[in-house]
Amino acid sequence: MNKTELKTITGVLEQGMNRQLLYYLDVCTRCSICKDACHQYVSTGDVLFLPAYRAELIRRVYKKYFTRSGLFLPSLYEARESDDRLLDELYRSTYACTGCRRCMYYCPFSIDTTWVLGVAKAMLIAAGKGAQILTELAGAAVSKGENIDLFKDIMLDLNKETEKELQSLIGDSKATIPIEKEGADILYAALAGVHSILPPSVIFHKAGLNWTLSLFESANYGYFLGDVEKGRIIAKRIVDEAKRLGVKEVVISECGHAYRVMQYLYETWAKEELSFGVTAMVEIIARLIEEGSIEIPSGKERKIVTYHDPCQVGRNAGFYEEPRYVLNQVASNLRELNPSREKNWCCGGGGGLVAQPEFDEFRIKTGERKAEQIKQTRAGLVVSPCENCRLQITALNEKYDMGVKVTGLSDVVANQLIGRDIATSFEAGQTEEPEDED
Ligand code: SF4
Ligand code: SF4
Repeated sequence: MNKTELKTITGVLEQGMNRQLLYYLDVCTRCSICKDACHQYVSTGDVLFLPAYRAELIRRVYKKYFTRSGLFLPSLYEARESDDRLLDELYRSTYACTGCRRCMYYCPFSIDTTWVLGVAKAMLIAAGKGAQILTELAGAAVSKGENIDLFKDIMLDLNKETEKELQSLIGDSKATIPIEKEGADILYAALAGVHSILPPSVIFHKAGLNWTLSLFESANYGYFLGDVEKGRIIAKRIVDEAKRLGVKEVVISECGHAYRVMQYLYETWAKEELSFGVTAMVEIIARLIEEGSIEIPSGKERKIVTYHDPCQVGRNAGFYEEPRYVLNQVASNLRELNPSREKNWCCGGGGGLVAQPEFDEFRIKTGERKAEQIKQTRAGLVVSPCENCRLQITALNEKYDMGVKVTGLSDVVANQLIGRDIATSFEAGQTEEPEDED
């Protein structure tokens, strides 16, 4: 590493050095409690994935360049040169982290390793070593925001097809999936793909909501990359759309990190107060059932169903009761994973790992504990309201021969509302066009 690169990296560390980071770097007693909390360390035994060690890499650079003792007696104070090997280690340990924060839950000082790794990501990006695929995906999302007129016609055409699917599913040839509807109460930000649009459309239609579909997908690769500016620009596309349409509430699809970005991070990133409410899909479904806007038909599903708490929906956002309340309406045999709720094991797919082929083998290996947990329930259906978790558990299902179907919360509810088996998938081209009633 040359002097300019070194200056860039230490400059980023200096910029990110605030009271919170100093507290995290100072207070760790190296008790190692966090080692048993991290599914990655537990599965690999590799110190690189021990939560405290991940932060230690940053701590050593800090000691080397920002403390007198580290400057003059580096080996005594465990200070470390910011060389290429360190950056490689930092890359693996940082981009491998799923951001599940199970380590933080168990740490006696609540040290937030993911927060420290946010600084590590900024250092890596400054050194030109940000995760490449995440950089490309974030760049594509930013570009879409800048050139939305180029994409709009294609999106509107695709939406007509999805609308026909909806009409067929609910038997109403006049049902619509509105886009750019001014004065709508709700703006729904889906993920890319019909599977993320159809189930909520069924639910919103049955509840008679005044809603509109966002032109922009809720996923935020700027967040996974650790590039705050890109993350802010990507989220701002939805914020601007919500303001333009005058909605009261933005509902985020079943995507844990997308909810986290909009609910907890955007205002700090943008230094702007949101003028609308932010609601997770699990939250609105529970609300609609509770207030009687949708009625789940009787004749509950009797198969064993289990629920995987996505880290960003459960531990990091606190939605434990809402999904269980909904599932208990749908199924009579909901069997908990052990442990679950705040102690639930990460599935291994978060943090953008499912989008990074370089971590494929690692991801499957570190998901073995989750596979075992699910097998122990003997469930035939796993419900989880997060796309990353579903992709990961589906991959684990194949690898570890779990014999389950994996689905979302909206999917089971929408299926119940239209009288289908709750495990039926919502995919494009599965339905026939309805007869015109006129
Ligand atoms: S549990 Fe907390 S204090 Fe203990 S080693 Fe891990 S990060 Fe440090
Ligand atoms: S956030 Fe999760 S994956 Fe990352 S270090 Fe902590 S326990 Fe491990």
